[in-house]
Amino acid sequence: MPDPRKSSLSKRSIALGAAVFAVVAPLGLAAPANADANFPSPNGETNISSILSYQDTVKELQKIESNSRFDVDAFTLQEAGTQVSESEQGRDLYVATAGHGPEDVWLQGRIHGNEPYGTDSLLTLLKELGANGSADYDLLREKYTFHFIPMYNPDGSEENVRQTILWDQETNAPQLDAKGNQQRVDLNRDWTLEGFVANESLAYYEYWTMVDPAFGVDVHHQGLKKEWGTGDDVTLSLGISLAPGGPTLPGIENGAYDVLTRQMQVHVYDELSKYGAFNIDRYQVGDGMEIDIKGGVVSAMMLGLNYRGLNADGHRNPVVFFETSGNSSDGSLGQKSRGKLIRQNVLALKELLLGMASGEVQQEDPERWEEIPHQPVTGYQTDYAGLVQK
Ligand SMILES: [Zn+2]
Repeated sequence: MPDPRKSSLSKRSIALGAAVFAVVAPLGLAAPANADANFPSPNGETNISSILSYQDTVKELQKIESNSRFDVDAFTLQEAGTQVSESEQGRDLYVATAGHGPEDVWLQGRIHGNEPYGTDSLLTLLKELGANGSADYDLLREKYTFHFIPMYNPDGSEENVRQTILWDQETNAPQLDAKGNQQRVDLNRDWTLEGFVANESLAYYEYWTMVDPAFGVDVHHQGLKKEWGTGDDVTLSLGISLAPGGPTLPGIENGAYDVLTRQMQVHVYDELSKYGAFNIDRYQVGDGMEIDIKGGVVSAMMLGLNYRGLNADGHRNPVVFFETSGNSSDGSLGQKSRGKLIRQNVLALKELLLGMASGEVQQEDPERWEEIPHQPVTGYQTDYAGLVQK
């Protein structure tokens, strides 16, 4: 079905593409053939040559938009009409929508610039939603309108660092503090009443208030991780940024998100455990500590943060996050495991979305969150009260 919004945006996109993206190398999205390299390598084989750049990402978004059978719309936040719409270094921030259902779904990746596969995974899923005519994808398109943010942090991605760097656009140089140091902001701690230090935060926050999604997923990477108790390599950790049963989440919406977020992750765990290639556990921050941060983007969504009156109606929505193993810090990413890890993320996203659409997720037993491998919980690492013992 043609999207009435598509033609004008496409023209704009084509003009932009010709002007800015003339020197982009072809994308290497094919999975590597080597089936032995199932896990990221700890042996310094990190090769970031295939990591998608900002320009690769924009080019791929535009390609998906023009080639899709079903409605895909790629646009900038400037086109969406947010007051702040560029990164600190002045890059346009991109979103793509797919599907035409009544409920909106927020899918973001690479808020940490050195955590690359959220971008690849979301672009792959977007491409499927635009092209795949199977019953599964029909259901997703009928039920939901998806908002893809494949590269939340383009500046950090270009620098291969976690944060964004506060930038003086007039001098085109980093803003320096009194001691002459760069000021870097972790965008996943910046959605607080005292925060919104970086442009990216306010831009996406305002877009979130325009969308009012029903739920969301945030795709990250962790380093190489061993399963507690067995020592097996972990390929994916399932996370909830306000700990289930912890100090915060049970108090939101009478505990509804405490239940639903666990059901979401239990469903992903069950579906992906059917594939022998993946080993999944729960995300923890070490020594049995659970994460309980309020300034994380997806936490602030669950808390219904109202900054500058932009969320005056108090919208809130549940969100879970995925932590793919390996990142692009040296020695932490096996080039050969790339295809497998991206496939794993895409499957996790697809199964979660299908489970939500079909109602299977809502039927899961939330107590089975305890069955997902994890170290016994000793306490909570917070961004508001330090370490809190259980
Ligand atoms: Zn991260």
